[in-house]
Amino acid sequence: MTIATKKQYKSLTKVHAILYAKGLHFFSEDAELHCREIGDGNLNYVFHIKDAQSERSLIIKQALPYAKVVGESWPLTLKRATIEAIALKKQAEYVPTLVPTVYATDEDLAITVMEDLSHLKIAREGLIHLESYPKLSRDIGEYLAQTLFHTSDFALHPFEKKGLVSEFSNPELCKITEDLIFTDPFFDHETNDFEPSLRAEVEVIWNNERLKLEVAKLKRSFLTEAEALLHGDLHTGSIFASETETKVIDPEFAFYGPIGFDIGIFLANLIVQSITRETEARNTILQHIEQTWEVFSSTFSTLWKSKSIESYKDTKGFEEYVLDKIFRDTLGFAGCELIRRTIGLAHVKDLDAIVEEEQRLHFKKQALQVGKTLILKRYDLHSIDAVIALLEELH
Ligand code: ADP
Ligand code: MG
Ligand code: MG
Ligand code: MG
Repeated sequence: MTIATKKQYKSLTKVHAILYAKGLHFFSEDAELHCREIGDGNLNYVFHIKDAQSERSLIIKQALPYAKVVGESWPLTLKRATIEAIALKKQAEYVPTLVPTVYATDEDLAITVMEDLSHLKIAREGLIHLESYPKLSRDIGEYLAQTLFHTSDFALHPFEKKGLVSEFSNPELCKITEDLIFTDPFFDHETNDFEPSLRAEVEVIWNNERLKLEVAKLKRSFLTEAEALLHGDLHTGSIFASETETKVIDPEFAFYGPIGFDIGIFLANLIVQSITRETEARNTILQHIEQTWEVFSSTFSTLWKSKSIESYKDTKGFEEYVLDKIFRDTLGFAGCELIRRTIGLAHVKDLDAIVEEEQRLHFKKQALQVGKTLILKRYDLHSIDAVIALLEELH
């Protein structure tokens, strides 16, 4: 894009969004378009635009130049819209059915125009209401293996890989993760947010030097290991699901990081869900946890054997070493996510929306306990079955 055509950024109103949609020639000239803003309102606008006649619809997501958290605003780069759009396109090369189609992007206005997925439900909401998503873990296991393998050094020429590392440089959004997942919850920091009744448990965490050493190591991995292109925010609120479909949205945190991060964030959000459920319904989630890892690791292994360009790919023990390293990281990152979702700035509805106080506090304490165990015992838990056993022991 040349300087001459550069447009001034301006946040859209619904009227502007309709005009913008008209300019895309996606709808017929005389279409009567209806627009609703359906975003969560913290970082971005999400406009849903529909032609009632033809039933055609699309989504316009626009980044805002600031983030709104706890009533405060701070500037946040608009470049994340471009990161999100190019990440969705990159992922579509490997898992076209598991991401929304991008119809158009606009760097100046920080806009991504994409497929409307309103026929699906955000997985977190559905899971809280015990809806069944039989394909969820297969699809996410597949998504993880395909996107992470194909963007790693095992699949890409080193020049191409390093080109992507620089294209996906995302320092401001990484900083949010570095602070809110890896740092603040482990110190008495003002961003933390927890119920007063949890203070004793929280102080135990702040004073646990062994735990903090392990979190420091995990943070260092996140800061330094450019293994693959991550989604960067793969919680169940970034996944649309139904009984037959799964779509991963919202990769604005995408960057090159350790493979286990995406897997760990997803598993932690399933673990939270499992903690809140009674035995029978819990088993469904435990199966999803097991299946996510099984599908990820078997698919990754198949890709390794069929597509790896790494000279050492057939050297005895190397594939096992790589998968084992990913597994340890996955457990550690999952542990950090469990802790920060319980006592850090950004909570999850799975826990916070439980009305009964004693119940809610009990589950939050379990989330903290599992989080600590995953971080501290990640070299002693030798398989996903060992993790499942740990979760089955909770009551
Ligand atoms: P944010 O980065 O602000 O979290 P998301 O991309 O997660 O934005 O979108 C926020 C909400 O907007 C989603 O939870 C969903 O309800 C809605 N949304 C986002 N993308 C789509 C889409 N492609 N189709 C339908 N709804 C969407
Ligand atoms: Mg989101
Ligand atoms: Mg987002
Ligand atoms: Mg809160």
